[in-house]
Amino acid sequence: MCVELGGKAFHAKVVRGEVLERGVLDYAKMTGLSKPLRDALTERAPLLAGTEVARSTSRDGTTKLLIDFGAVEGRSGAVETVHIPPRELGGPKGATLCVSSQVGCAVRCPFCASGKLGLARNLEPHEIVEQYLRGRALGNLSRSVVMGIGEPLLNFPNVSAALDVVHDDLGLGARKVTVSTVGFPDRLRQIAPRKPRFQLAISLHTPFDEQRDELVPAMKGVPIDDVLSAADFWFETTGREVTYEYVLLAGVTDTPEHARRLAERLRRRRCTVNLIPFNPVSDSEFARPSSDAVDRMFRALTERGIVATVRWSRGVGGGAACGQLRIRANAR
Ligand code: SAH
Repeated sequence: MCVELGGKAFHAKVVRGEVLERGVLDYAKMTGLSKPLRDALTERAPLLAGTEVARSTSRDGTTKLLIDFGAVEGRSGAVETVHIPPRELGGPKGATLCVSSQVGCAVRCPFCASGKLGLARNLEPHEIVEQYLRGRALGNLSRSVVMGIGEPLLNFPNVSAALDVVHDDLGLGARKVTVSTVGFPDRLRQIAPRKPRFQLAISLHTPFDEQRDELVPAMKGVPIDDVLSAADFWFETTGREVTYEYVLLAGVTDTPEHARRLAERLRRRRCTVNLIPFNPVSDSEFARPSSDAVDRMFRALTERGIVATVRWSRGVGGGAACGQLRIRANAR
């Protein structure tokens, strides 16, 4: 493109370096290019495909961007990207970026806002990378989670192509990126031998098959045993432990019986359970458990030898916590 517009081939390298290494997102600031070339590039080869249509920052500094990648067939192409600054001294130096993998979601978990409108389309690799470029402009990143809108394994070729750029060119090393999925067993078995560089998190949410059919509708009929054995295969093949995410819905997934059965299912597996107290979403039939109930669940698991953590989501006030991401432009 640079050559086509009257520049030299090495100018493309200059642009790449400016964008990927220095985070410059505007040709006008690339002083290594002539003014006519900068102008021509601005016009003919825009650096960013999307438009920031909204930004909100909650009290704890978590910033949510609503980025519109353009409507297709009348459906909005807006997704959310969340920049979560480091919490405490001694923790990671940079922020965590939560990125979306699809516009909408086909999984339709009843406790999550993202799937309420169904799936509009897959994000393209450059649209996923762009979320990183925009996120990095808000402050250095040290980690990233593909836990925004969408189910990454249902758009895996694009997610994977984008993560290659993120690992190779944006410097987020292996293990610094976590991909969260409902855990389609056949897909996990296909992907594991390719030794992906990311960490895997599986949204399990319950140890009971009938209940999982309701909480994760796209996995209806897939026994939890199949998900766990695919996760075991992942661990054996990649050498990386799997994290199980578990949303705590008051009275629904936080009972002693749930803890007992979950511990039984995970016994002798090297893994971590990440308990996520439900973040309220509007018109939801679910409620967040009390902190005592969260503690009880945590203790019930750890007493049985299960490694557990609790994720008190940040950004709850700004509507940017897990499950609160929603395609507002479409929802109105
Ligand atoms: N589709 C992927 C990734 C996106 S969601 C997946 O399901 O893993 C990231 C995590 O947030 C998932 O574990 C999801 O179940 C959880 N989540 C969704 N809505 C939530 C809510 N309202 N409160 C708490 N966690 C929620």
